[in-house]
Amino acid sequence: MNSDSVAMTELHGKMHKPTVCIFGTGDFGRSLGLRLLQSGYSVVYGSRDPKNSLLLPKGSKVMSHAEAACEAHVICVAVQREHYGFLSSLASDLEGKVLIDVSNNLKRGLYPESNAEYLSRLVPGVTVVKAFNTISAWALQSGGLDANRQVLICGDRADAKQQVVDIAQSLGFTVQDRGSLRAAAELEDLPLQLFPLWRLPLCIAICLTAFIFFYALTRDVIYERVTTGKDIAFRIMISLANKVFPIVSLVMLSLCYLPGALAGFLQLYNGTKYRRFPDWLDRWMLCRKQLGLLALAFGFLHVLYTLVIPIRYYVRYRMNVYTISLVKDNKTYEFDNTAAWRHDSYYSMGILGFGLFVLLGITSLPSVSNSLNWREFSFVQSKLGYITLLLCTAHTFLYGWDKFLKTEKYRWWMPPAYMLSLVIPCVVLILKLILVMPCVDRKVTRIRQGWERQSKTASNSRDTKANQPLMA
Ligand code: NAP
Repeated sequence: MNSDSVAMTELHGKMHKPTVCIFGTGDFGRSLGLRLLQSGYSVVYGSRDPKNSLLLPKGSKVMSHAEAACEAHVICVAVQREHYGFLSSLASDLEGKVLIDVSNNLKRGLYPESNAEYLSRLVPGVTVVKAFNTISAWALQSGGLDANRQVLICGDRADAKQQVVDIAQSLGFTVQDRGSLRAAAELEDLPLQLFPLWRLPLCIAICLTAFIFFYALTRDVIYERVTTGKDIAFRIMISLANKVFPIVSLVMLSLCYLPGALAGFLQLYNGTKYRRFPDWLDRWMLCRKQLGLLALAFGFLHVLYTLVIPIRYYVRYRMNVYTISLVKDNKTYEFDNTAAWRHDSYYSMGILGFGLFVLLGITSLPSVSNSLNWREFSFVQSKLGYITLLLCTAHTFLYGWDKFLKTEKYRWWMPPAYMLSLVIPCVVLILKLILVMPCVDRKVTRIRQGWERQSKTASNSRDTKANQPLMA
């Protein structure tokens, strides 16, 4: 195709793009109009006060609502729901047209019905399509890769929806059809959500961090102060932080895998996979990715804090004092082969565990996970995930070594904090070990392939089937 024919095709496409009417000259209306004009549409605004409508995109026209409605078949209502009342007086001008409802509410449950359904009831002769409400005015204006590019739509008539899909795609958006207009309430709730899947993991991370911090503070700093009078509060900044972060990281990593193991046992107990998991388990499973990413963030902080240990004033001071005391007492620093093995293994497990952890994090990114098939994804997230957990748990065991045998380590009857961090990982690894035993694994695999235990079949037929894909 030469440049002339490309230009002709573009012109042709432009000529065939219909006029779109926008009611409302506010932020959203102006941004949408600008984007439509840039994509070759003609835009006409319907306003309460056409003469005083300022800052409208160049090339658009502005007139009264009734006049503007006659200019286009598709009309976007960029007006707040509270002001929809004026539309009922335009019913005859709007007869047979497609109205795009872009509105959102300030709070959930503000109205008994969705804005789109209300609009459809208010002007019975029109076809309402809900669209663009999850796209901000800013995203419409910037339009680049740095903004949300997916438009969710719903509506009762396929031809009307298709017209809106064509417009959205011409503007460079991808479209997801969410069904009939009854889905509008759900679409209107979406922009009101604040990181819904992150709430539980963040809550766990904050509570866990606070608990471990106060535990370690009591054991390490307050105990020392009370029993010997020494003030070692400066250790809060690095030593204590570097105890809290790895513990939180390991516990959260194991919490990613615990629900999968529990679900496996539940399926074994139920003898079927066609039985709903309890709601708490469902919710837990849904936020595993977020739990894992937070665990990785804490693991990353642990790595950074560990890297600065050799340059810490306190560490250099202790080494100098120790070396000088050896010289003074004319003693030699004997090489301990066991200690060498232990330290090297400890670091090695930590490095390998963290490396795999980073790999898990990378594969959870949508751009990477989309390029993996289900088997590859589940291999990385499940098999490599458990290996990561195993390595990190081994790293912690090697850190503690024989400390658990020494009574002086149980200050005020409180065991060292690292011991607490091992409880959940060990439980998860033991549960997994049971699940991978050939006799159990065979049964779980059969259940996941659809097999049902006879006695359960009858009672299960009453349950609605909720076949959850499992990250075992
Ligand atoms: P806005 O800046 O307040 O503009 C709303 C427009 O509605 C006004 O400019 C006005 O236009 C018209 N209007 C106001 N009172 C009216 C009345 N009593 N009767 C008739 N028309 C009236 O609001 P917006 O931010 O553009 O939002 C418009 C709609 O888009 C809302 O439903 C909002 O939920 C939705 N939305 C907005 C965004 C966003 O990022 N802003 C994102 C998604 C969805 P005239 O003066 O020309 O009549």
